[in-house]
Amino acid sequence: MIGQYDYRLVALSVVVAVLASYTSLDLAGRVAAVRRRAHVWLAGGAFAMGTGIWSMHFVAMLAFKLPIAMGYNFFITTASWLMAVFASAIALHLVSQPSLAARRIFFGAICMAAGICGMHYTGMYAMRMQPGIVYDPILVGASLVIAFGASAAALFIAFRLRNAASLRGVVRKIGAAAVMGVAIAGMHYTGMAAARFPLGSVCGAATDLDPAWLATLIGVSTLLLLGTTLIASILDQRLENQTAQLVNSLSKANAELLHMSLHDPLTNLANRALLHDRIGQSLDRWRHNRSHFAVIYVDLDGFKAINDNLGHRVGDELLKSAARVMSETVRHSDTIARMGGDEFVVVVNDLDGPDAVSRVCSKLLEAITSVAEGGIQLSASIGSAVYPDDGEDASQLITAADLAMYAAKMAGKNGHQSYQPSMNVPASEEFAIQTELRAAIRNNELIVYYQPKYSAGERRLLGAEALVRWQHPERGLIPPDRFIYVAERCGLIVDLECWVLESVCAQIRAWLDAGMDVPPVSVNLSAVRIRDKDLPEHVQACLDRHGLPARYLVFEITESLAMDDVFQAIRTLARFNEMGVHFALDDFGTGYSSLSYLKQLPLQQLKIDRTFIADLEHGEESHAEIVRSIIGLAHALGLRVVAEGVETEAQMTYLNRFRCDEVQGYLLSRPVPANDFAALIAGPSRAMPVPPLAKAELGELGFRRGLTA
Ligand code: C2E
Ligand code: CA
Ligand code: CA
Repeated sequence: MIGQYDYRLVALSVVVAVLASYTSLDLAGRVAAVRRRAHVWLAGGAFAMGTGIWSMHFVAMLAFKLPIAMGYNFFITTASWLMAVFASAIALHLVSQPSLAARRIFFGAICMAAGICGMHYTGMYAMRMQPGIVYDPILVGASLVIAFGASAAALFIAFRLRNAASLRGVVRKIGAAAVMGVAIAGMHYTGMAAARFPLGSVCGAATDLDPAWLATLIGVSTLLLLGTTLIASILDQRLENQTAQLVNSLSKANAELLHMSLHDPLTNLANRALLHDRIGQSLDRWRHNRSHFAVIYVDLDGFKAINDNLGHRVGDELLKSAARVMSETVRHSDTIARMGGDEFVVVVNDLDGPDAVSRVCSKLLEAITSVAEGGIQLSASIGSAVYPDDGEDASQLITAADLAMYAAKMAGKNGHQSYQPSMNVPASEEFAIQTELRAAIRNNELIVYYQPKYSAGERRLLGAEALVRWQHPERGLIPPDRFIYVAERCGLIVDLECWVLESVCAQIRAWLDAGMDVPPVSVNLSAVRIRDKDLPEHVQACLDRHGLPARYLVFEITESLAMDDVFQAIRTLARFNEMGVHFALDDFGTGYSSLSYLKQLPLQQLKIDRTFIADLEHGEESHAEIVRSIIGLAHALGLRVVAEGVETEAQMTYLNRFRCDEVQGYLLSRPVPANDFAALIAGPSRAMPVPPLAKAELGELGFRRGLTA
């Protein structure tokens, strides 16, 4: 009995085979690339690919017509489909392995060929022909060889092309899919050619279903299934690529941020944070093998005069030169840090004898005096301290070296002194400030200024930062940078901050009583205070005294102090959160920034340090990228972002583009006395009406007039 083919269906079967092959190649890449949903992709992929191969076969069967009624047993047909899915699962699993040895290809191809041939001949059996089909052994053998060859080639090609995502890769995949599809179809039609149907055969599974209709239904639904699978795969790939890109750019920004947070931008030397870390490492080394180390303080002589007379550019160049020659003088394992201005600290490790330190100091001095640019000859005063004789930890050693440096200055500059215990008397000026400040707190000589914070877009007033000043009876208004440092060193900071908090709470109460709509006020907290376990109770008591809800207060803490003892900080902050007091991380980017800590701290705001904002306009392109990354990251962590020190409209434009939430800076308003801030609260639209003031006319008192006018 001779059969005939419906060539339209034959064509459909080949199309299905090629698309099934293309989908398989694509899925092979997916299963190999994904880490999390790999088993889902494997199962779904095997389902789609197996169904594709099977339906190619089934459509081809339906294309074949005998001059008798024909049909297929449902259960046997289902079994043949399962075999195709199973063979596909093996194939996908194999090509997703990290490597594919020849032996693997060989056994994999045997399994796949067995699956495909099993599918084919089981599918034929589903016709239940009576008498049975007679097979030509040579052609059956040929179909087995073709199935094996096609499978081996498919495995090899799929493995090679699985990561090809470029356009060229796609073209190569299409070519490979065409070859594979034709090979699979070839196997099928060879198998069909092997079948002889004896005259007078009847089909035991004959039904009335129109085979052409059934074939079209199966062919089209399979094409839909394969198409959907492909689209899902492509979309998933896109998503994964985007995620990978984001992770990549974040980690780059993070690395850059880390470098910037540990180095001085001008000289690229270590900064304070890194210096402390390195001294910590030297201490560890001493514990291990008693290797002595020294901390050396270097201060350039007469540098302020150079800066004032010749300008910052010349000054900066000299600083860079000094940094370079010092770096060339010490060993690679030693550390040089810039402490700001014209002060440097060198950590010299593995000292090999009592006069090793003075040798290094002489060499440093010689190197610095070798810098002669534009007719200027540098010199320096140097002080040194040695561990463990002169101090127990980083701060003590640095202070000791600093005192020795001061002694060298007093002794006529351009020289070196090593630390002596007798040097350790408080510098007279510092002592005077201490005594006077103590009295100032008692006599209410301190006042709080308020610097408004605005929304970045509409510039609506959203809050204020309370900044303390000292109204000195003779010396006028003294900015906090001149006395906070001293207050921190002598412990007066506790009294000072209690005074500020009390004053801010009283002020808010007064404004509320006057019927004003008061926004939250931020208050700075120093390191000493945040370590105080009773702080939350003190703050609650203060709020209660003035009958204030906690939402009127925000505390600003600096990154370095929050990171100092992370677990203690987390506990304290958590208690404040329960009370309803919010926290902002101040000066972000300048300390030991660690993004992982940031995730753990229960904060609500992040304040980007003003140096980053200043760099937005004149720094390199990458600085803007960093600010953008910080903002994106903070938002991802659910934090509001405040930009500090905004001085120009250009900076505002950047910040708006980067979706920064709040801004604070001279462009919008300087810190102002309480009455002036009250006028801003009560002001008509609360929008920002103040034109920027020229820097030259600032003088802390001079700007009042401009704001109240
Ligand atoms: P901070 O917390 O970073 O405060 C912001 C400082 O930046 C303020 O200086 C403010 O006047 C200044 N600033 C604001 N906008 C701009 C701008 O556009 N450009 C520039 N160049 N600067 C701007 P201020 O008031 O002199 O305070 C200096 C530091 O003193 C504060 O830095 C803070 O660390 C500390 N401080 C002030 N009050 C307190 C306090 O009550 N407690 C503690 N612990 N520290 C305080
Ligand atoms: Ca602050
Ligand atoms: Ca700040």
